[in-house]
Amino acid sequence: MALVNENYLKLPGSYLFSEIARRVNKFKKDNPDADIIRLGIGDVTRPLPPAVVEAMKKAVEEMGRQETFRGYGPEQGYEFLIEKIIENDFRPRGVELAIDEVFVSDGAKNDTANFQELFGIGNILAVSDPVYPVYVDSNVMAGRTGPVNAKGQFEKIVYLPCTEENGMKPPLPRTRVDMIYLCFPNNPTGMTLSKEELKKWVDYARENRSVILFDAAYEAYIQEEGVPHSIFEVEGAREVAVEFRSFSKTAGFTGTRCAYTIVPREVMVYDSTGKAHSLNSLWLRRQTTKFNGVSYPVQAGAAAVFSEEGKKQVKEMINYYMENARIIREGLEKAGYKVFGGVNAPYIWLKTPGNMGSWDFFDKLMKDANVVGTPGAGFGANGEGYFRLTAFGTRENTERAVERIRTRM
Ligand code: PLP
Repeated sequence: MALVNENYLKLPGSYLFSEIARRVNKFKKDNPDADIIRLGIGDVTRPLPPAVVEAMKKAVEEMGRQETFRGYGPEQGYEFLIEKIIENDFRPRGVELAIDEVFVSDGAKNDTANFQELFGIGNILAVSDPVYPVYVDSNVMAGRTGPVNAKGQFEKIVYLPCTEENGMKPPLPRTRVDMIYLCFPNNPTGMTLSKEELKKWVDYARENRSVILFDAAYEAYIQEEGVPHSIFEVEGAREVAVEFRSFSKTAGFTGTRCAYTIVPREVMVYDSTGKAHSLNSLWLRRQTTKFNGVSYPVQAGAAAVFSEEGKKQVKEMINYYMENARIIREGLEKAGYKVFGGVNAPYIWLKTPGNMGSWDFFDKLMKDANVVGTPGAGFGANGEGYFRLTAFGTRENTERAVERIRTRM
């Protein structure tokens, strides 16, 4: 008799976005003429930049010719891409990385979910609340948590509340934690941390020999000067942090799949005798065993993001989405909503009016304005009473959605 991994049974029945889809489908069935605008799921709508498409086509041609065909590539990514990443995403911000500290992958979702494998099962983890659910669920699946309580929080996870009172910035844990998930610019709140604020986390991690798992998937959306783009801009971070990046939201790769993870050689984890082991070597070991690399055409496409043309096209795309963010943020503020984010991130986090529950607001918004967003409660207990809208829609739909919220809600 095959036994189940009982950790999976601790997880709530449906993933947040399946529940949203269920409600939308039911509404559509009952209201077949409703013109629904979706500003819910964080998927992009703009096509791949032409420079990327050209590079991918060329790479596909190469794969079809005997002289230029390539089979398995290096599991950790081609050097031609890694060099461009270091040169463009890090060096201009004063961060030096070695080639073997960058691991190319097919997604930040998988990397953030898989990375916990390198840590002992007894580690205590801290996450902000609200949170991108992948960090929590992957640790639940691994057996690092206890059961879930009525508030939807798992035993043995330290939840760091991000509230209006603390400006949506997670407070340092009061007790010792070993693994710390931070995501800035944040999904879902859209907030960022300053260098000084990040430094407090780096100092905490150095004092406690913890590791910070820093998700910078939305780094390309930072508009304001002075906001750090990488945790490695903070002194000492190389000893205690790993950083996840993605081409998904930066360059429209959600359906193409390419991302990368930075693991500095200095970051250590310890065995029961106190001996240090390099996370970089462990991640290499893990990837070479469980992953066979990202396809050559996709890596060639990702490298084109850093060409002169590619950079220009990516910037235009980000400006397009950030203009949507401005339209949502300012439109909702004018309509009297309290709004967070949308300045350095493609997410707008709004407070539901009159303390309405976030699923109630979801239903009302769908019914009265035919607009679909994401209920804050889906991101954690402290997301209750909030709601997420994304700037990834088309301009036309974004404008129509804001107009409807202003006039129909
Ligand atoms: N990290 C965060 C915070 C995200 O919001 C998302 C996607 O929505 C991802 C990672 C996933 O990125 P990828 O498409 O590279 O898997």
